[in-house]
Amino acid sequence: MTTGKINVSVENIFPLIKKFLYSDHEIFLRELVSNATDATIKLKHLTSIGEAKVEYGNPIIEVKIDKEGKKLHITDQGLGMTAEEVEKYINQIAFSGAEEFLEKYKDSAKDSGVIGHFGLGFYSAFMVAEKVEIITKSYKDEPAAHWTCDGSPEFTLEPHDKSERGTEIILHIAEDSLEFLEERRIRELLVKYNKFMPVPIKFGTRKEALPKPEDAGDDYKTEYKEVDNIINNPNPAWTKQPADLTDDDYRNFYRELYPMQFDEPLFNIHLNVDYPFNLTGILYFPKMSADLQIQKDKIQLYQNQVFVTDNVEGIVPEFLTMLKGVIDSPDIPLNVSRSYLQADGAVKKISNYITRKVADKLKSLFTENREDFEQKWNDIKIVLEYGMLSEPKFYEKAGAFVLYPTVDKKYYTLDELKGAIKDQQTDKDGKLVVLYASNEDAQHSYIDLAKEKGYEVLLLDSPIVSHLIQKLEADNENLTFTRVDSDHIDNLIKKEDSQLSKLSDEEKENLKTVLEELVPKTTYTVQLEAMDSKTAPFIITQPEFMRRMKEMSQTGGGMFGMSNFPEMY
Ligand code: ADP
Ligand code: MG
Repeated sequence: MTTGKINVSVENIFPLIKKFLYSDHEIFLRELVSNATDATIKLKHLTSIGEAKVEYGNPIIEVKIDKEGKKLHITDQGLGMTAEEVEKYINQIAFSGAEEFLEKYKDSAKDSGVIGHFGLGFYSAFMVAEKVEIITKSYKDEPAAHWTCDGSPEFTLEPHDKSERGTEIILHIAEDSLEFLEERRIRELLVKYNKFMPVPIKFGTRKEALPKPEDAGDDYKTEYKEVDNIINNPNPAWTKQPADLTDDDYRNFYRELYPMQFDEPLFNIHLNVDYPFNLTGILYFPKMSADLQIQKDKIQLYQNQVFVTDNVEGIVPEFLTMLKGVIDSPDIPLNVSRSYLQADGAVKKISNYITRKVADKLKSLFTENREDFEQKWNDIKIVLEYGMLSEPKFYEKAGAFVLYPTVDKKYYTLDELKGAIKDQQTDKDGKLVVLYASNEDAQHSYIDLAKEKGYEVLLLDSPIVSHLIQKLEADNENLTFTRVDSDHIDNLIKKEDSQLSKLSDEEKENLKTVLEELVPKTTYTVQLEAMDSKTAPFIITQPEFMRRMKEMSQTGGGMFGMSNFPEMY
């Protein structure tokens, strides 16, 4: 047996680790299962290139609780370590990794959200264990090694009689971490972090019904056998080729990701790129008409099938954070703060790629099946409209698929709309006037009036419409938007012979005065011209500009709780 002292500059790193990572103790399991997975995948590689002359077989990882012994075991059948490698990888490398980590982050402990994403690696075991053992046998023909360390820099290393290849990590769970001996807690963590890891993970057993024998009588009682309870799906949909997946596969995967969610996604976008960065994933457009503020199921970020976080802010463009699904990329730096992330060039590239991919998919959905796209419009418009406002790259492409529905449920693209109104909806300066309603019920008499005149009236009812209109006007010089109840509409409405024309000017003035007594003059205008309408005897309008400004100030900062709504308008 050898004993030794881990080379430390910080005299005792372990209490530090424990205190420092207080809120993220649970990540130890992710780290240890990740190591077990790495060791298995490495062995697969070594056998495939003929470097390791052993049978790879069907290795699994097992997580086992020994409640009485207060121990947690994580066992793999991966490549294992020789005693020499334990010295090197555990005492030196893992340790220096942990030490470096602490050096780097001990001052930024409050910058939470960083720590949990960055693996402390093997030494995170000491956040929950008072003693850790490693029993490991390399695929190489060398005796197994047994390493023990009680959380002080001293360790022991001795031979062991373990005969099967692989590594067993034994955690002697500390008194203040006994929750990690609870089956429920461990299952919860395995599901959270390891649900899609690439090597099967066994946690306990379960009963599986045996097939009913053909000659079974009426009194046959189902028989069961004990089988391994595998908690993960090692081959999740996003790791496969889109061509190998059916619509059902995508729907089933949505269910797998969000077991508590019973809605059907509208459509999905499969991301798959390996240059200049690696990224795979599947994004889903959920139905948005429900309460936008409540978004509990979010996009999940993985690194090589290991769950990292469901806070993808800064990585996914803000307008797409309302989507669901997964993104998996080894190229997203996680050991840095959010503000750094946003400034990082590689991350910006990823974000732009996602934007482009989403725009391309929307375009192809639109061209392939316009009718279906129109039907979904109401559920997706808020995301797309917000995207047009917040991402210039998306705005550039949006012309090809963003729709402007009319109150009669016709759906125009912007170009189509311009064509449809160019002959009769112009103002005195020759600008195209887009009439729109924001509330069909409240504005129905104005809508009817405009329709009687043969005008197209859009129905634009999302909360950010005034911002969108402002932007469209800024980018389309010959276009102006006017709500049906605004005062501009009289520039459009042709004056025809009507009851009104029979009145003298004085009589008209009197009538107007009477009506104006009834409404506040400062914010509304009475228009008698509408008296010839069958539906409304007269109309009261409000200046478009004033109303829009008011709306914009109301919907400004607080959109979906999003903080950096563009302030360019
Ligand atoms: P990292 O995984 O980032 O390399 P860790 O601290 O998690 O850092 O692990 C340090 C090293 O210890 C690993 O690189 C690996 O060589 C070795 N190691 C840890 N766990 C195992 C295991 N289960 N089987 C084989 N080697 C392992
Ligand atoms: Mg590791």
